[in-house]
Amino acid sequence: PPVMSRLPVGAATHCPYCALQCGMNVTPDGITPRDDIPANAGGLCQKGWTAGELLASPHRLTTPLLHGEPVGWDEALDFVAARLGSIQREHGRDAVAVFGGGGLTNEKAYQLGKFARVALRTSQIDYNGRFCMSSAAAASNRAFGLDRGLPFPITDLARADVVLLAGGNVAETMPPFVRHFNKAGRLIVADPRVTATAKLAGLHLQLTPGTDLALALGLLHIAIADGYADLAYLAERVTGFEAVRDSVAAWWPERVERVTGVPVARMREAAHALGTARRAVILTARGAEQHAKGTDTATAFINLALALGLPGREGSGYGCVTGQGNGQGGREHGQKADQLPGYRRIDDPAARAHVAGVWGVDPADLPGPGRSAYELLDALGTPSGPKAMLLFGSNPVVSAPRSRHIAERLAALDLLVVSDLVRSETAELATVVLPTTQWAEEAGTLTNLEGRVLLRRQAVAPPSGVRSDLSVLASLAGRLGHVFSDDPRTVFDELRRASAGGPADYAGITYERIAAETGVFWPCPDEDHPGTPRPFLDRFATPDGRARMIPVEHRPPAEDVDGDYPIYLTTGRVLAHYQSGAQTRRIGPLNQAAPGAFVEMHPDLAERIGVASGDRVRVVGRRGSTEAPARVSPDIRPDTVFMPFHWEGVNRLTNPALDPVSRMPEFKVCAVRVEGAAS
Ligand code: SF4
Repeated sequence: PPVMSRLPVGAATHCPYCALQCGMNVTPDGITPRDDIPANAGGLCQKGWTAGELLASPHRLTTPLLHGEPVGWDEALDFVAARLGSIQREHGRDAVAVFGGGGLTNEKAYQLGKFARVALRTSQIDYNGRFCMSSAAAASNRAFGLDRGLPFPITDLARADVVLLAGGNVAETMPPFVRHFNKAGRLIVADPRVTATAKLAGLHLQLTPGTDLALALGLLHIAIADGYADLAYLAERVTGFEAVRDSVAAWWPERVERVTGVPVARMREAAHALGTARRAVILTARGAEQHAKGTDTATAFINLALALGLPGREGSGYGCVTGQGNGQGGREHGQKADQLPGYRRIDDPAARAHVAGVWGVDPADLPGPGRSAYELLDALGTPSGPKAMLLFGSNPVVSAPRSRHIAERLAALDLLVVSDLVRSETAELATVVLPTTQWAEEAGTLTNLEGRVLLRRQAVAPPSGVRSDLSVLASLAGRLGHVFSDDPRTVFDELRRASAGGPADYAGITYERIAAETGVFWPCPDEDHPGTPRPFLDRFATPDGRARMIPVEHRPPAEDVDGDYPIYLTTGRVLAHYQSGAQTRRIGPLNQAAPGAFVEMHPDLAERIGVASGDRVRVVGRRGSTEAPARVSPDIRPDTVFMPFHWEGVNRLTNPALDPVSRMPEFKVCAVRVEGAAS
């Protein structure tokens, strides 16, 4: 591809997309997988193999746009800084909002949080990771006192005799993941669809959408009733078992079968497999977590893992399969509404004092917590909401729930600034678009789904006309009277100091160590510390060192099926695309492999509404409708349809009902009716 003519040097770097962060070499001859990074160990998926095309994309923006017209950088930045100042003077500091992304490097996530709190002094910052792993993160913090997606190296999975995966389709979303499953072991998958991953599993629990919590209660009921609770472990390492035991007593298997649709015999088989395994791992992903009860659902699976004595034992445990490229690091460094760097809480006086010291500001000047992602987007342009937004690394017009409404809110802003490499659907609405560098054109660190901090090296010179997000932030900060670095290593060194002593402590991690050690696990408090692959071996991160079991109750989806909307809609990903598709939809081979959305439905439903595969169908919900070709398949429940979320459309229908703890919207289940598009 032409991009190779821009290569000054090749480099060992990492994929631009998902949380596996596969290692790859970008060289003048093209992309090859690295075999020194354990997560992929020589493997890549088709997204990784074709990532070089993104560097040469003809869709690439190379000049700033102001009201859709090309302008110079100084004109664009002067305009943005002047408008930010006038809007804040007229409406107050919180009239300007910042929105980040889980694909941004650690340096960018950190600098974005600092920019909001120091340069703008606004409380209104959050990011799209709120839509991703916030429920599992909240549940892990509640139970273990720490959220590190997988609190063990991914290679530990090969030692587990049994793995239960609830609501994840890793065989499509991150294919090299599956090589870590124990070939001689047992994989159990809970999913409403017979996914590519479910086809690998020895046991599939094909539950009704929105009933993962009930399934976990049922498995725990059986495990306790059949004597698999590890009482010695519970006495030594856990609090709260008795209350949870009492709360699941009413969830006898037949009742759970009625709620979930999973036959009792299959639940017993799963519980017995987990209960008798020498080593076992329980994993949750978005299918179980993206619900208005997502935190409680993840808690229910953690309770099951704790009752079986799994967390904190080598080769066993509970983990959340993080999805976005820097989904782990992106949630640690301060772009969340309630957070400061080092995974510190913004309402903790000691955390505020420490971070304010690093930033050279008065702790009293740091804003407090702001709105969560959906609440922030929903408030844009309203009388009490922000009038301006700076948006980095996100495409909410495609990816937010109730997306048409969110597009209207974005369009109602006085100023929308979008920093992106292509003209995404959200950039189409922007007052100002700033063209930025991408993955292999800049250096930075990312933290993969294991909590391993990795170095993404620069391999390619950026095209002329684009600037890095760090440069954009430094230029704007300068115009607002602050000095920010645009050098990734300098920003990382500051991040290390800001995170020191916090739960996600990066103080001992340097670019040199990451390169020499192929990644370093946090927490790593000093340069002599080896890093922490398994943080819970000796104690959990709670004040008393014991994990907390918390009783939780199943409840129906926020929007259940009824006579008008009798079918469940659930969403997810396909192999060829990543997230909102802003990048992968612009890559030829990926577009050919998966050119558009579809509606997967069971043959019984297709017959009932009189459609065949390829016929256009309309999916209608309470918040909107969308159309796509039908894909008729027995691999889905007759009461459910599935649509991929990489194209604008399906999120017009999804439900913004929020989890009370994590503020996660209920992406994974809402009620719809399905009809032939001609009707
Ligand atoms: Fe690996 Fe994920 Fe990139 Fe595929 S998309 S190559 S699984 S990091």
